[in-house]
Amino acid sequence: MLSVADAARAVARRIEPLPAERVPLADAGGRVLADDVRAARALPIFDNSAMDGYAARAAELPATLPVVGMVAAGQVMAEPVPAGVAIRILTGAPMPAGLDTVVIQEDARVAGATVTLPAARVGDNVRRAGEDIAPGEIAVTGGTRLGAGELALLAALGLVELSVRRAPRVALITTGDELVDVTTQPLPGQIVDSSSHMLGALVHACGGAATYFGIAKDDPIAMAAMLASAMDHDVVITTGGVSVGDRDHVRGALAAAGVELELWKVAMKPGKPFSFGMNGKTPVFGLPGNPVSTFVAFELFVRPALLAMQGLAVTARPRAPVQLVRGYRKPAGRCHYLRVRVVRNGEHLIAHPHAKQGSAMLTSLIGCNALVELTAEATEIPPNTIVSALLFEPV
Ligand code: AMP
Ligand code: MG
Repeated sequence: MLSVADAARAVARRIEPLPAERVPLADAGGRVLADDVRAARALPIFDNSAMDGYAARAAELPATLPVVGMVAAGQVMAEPVPAGVAIRILTGAPMPAGLDTVVIQEDARVAGATVTLPAARVGDNVRRAGEDIAPGEIAVTGGTRLGAGELALLAALGLVELSVRRAPRVALITTGDELVDVTTQPLPGQIVDSSSHMLGALVHACGGAATYFGIAKDDPIAMAAMLASAMDHDVVITTGGVSVGDRDHVRGALAAAGVELELWKVAMKPGKPFSFGMNGKTPVFGLPGNPVSTFVAFELFVRPALLAMQGLAVTARPRAPVQLVRGYRKPAGRCHYLRVRVVRNGEHLIAHPHAKQGSAMLTSLIGCNALVELTAEATEIPPNTIVSALLFEPV
């Protein structure tokens, strides 16, 4: 059976960045910048005062000088400033031409129309044009997800529109005769389709836009028709029906819908029946039906793909060594993924596995902030062993 690493590589080989599109700055938060953006102007645009105080010539200080004018943020002192005077200046105001230093008002002594200023150096309390960024410098590199800081800098540089990678349009299809929509009271034998809601949230959290196509019956023809109608999306995800049961028709339906299956079954638990194929340029992920298997397979294979499609260089979760508080015994052969809560204890990260680790146990996802990975070869893991975890959040 294929290892998790080989399966991840096989998927990654098929994933290409999506084309770029232009969006207004106001809509660009959370999107990934397509190309490097260089500053077309300096920041600050002009020399200005960093403080409220008095602008003067450093070479003339210390001195008692007449205060002959005042300049606030938004104003410009147009006339040249003669020698031997000071100008009252407020934070953000442009430096009057010829003056080269600002003495903060706390250090100045005002008497009538004069001010006594101590010695100062050229440039004290002055924000120089271009000291934040100079024209031509890279402001934000392509492949960066745009957050608050990036948006502020790009706005200051006057960028009205940005070129970002298209958000992956992801089609979601769940399968199973037993599934009903959440608004329906399940009849005997029926269960609510919970995975479409889980996947919608997972797709959204990694920058994709999910469209739910609905529940396909366990009928290869109906399934193939629904699959075919979803193929104009950037990614198609199905759940369930990929095991070896009599009603597991997804692989057949995928073939009927023109999907070339590239892999099926990965040496992992949960998530073994994971399958992946391509319909032309469209990646199709056949996720296992048990909700926790769906979750783990999404984490390992779909999330990195969606991030790569957006042009992000780093697509893997950060890993950290954690101390697994409970012992674990497993047969060799498959990688096991435990849903855990990792907490920090000083220098150490302590992983508390959820008591219910079954692949159908939805409660094991509550409070889960990491997956512990137990290697395929591992069999006996004594309590407090240091193991590797994929972290969902900083701890
Ligand atoms: P399957 O692989 O189709 O045999 O599904 C495995 C298990 O997962 C079965 O118990 C299904 O009822 C359950 N299951 C499949 N799809 C979903 C879903 N969308 N939501 C909740 N449970 C599901
Ligand atoms: Mg099924």
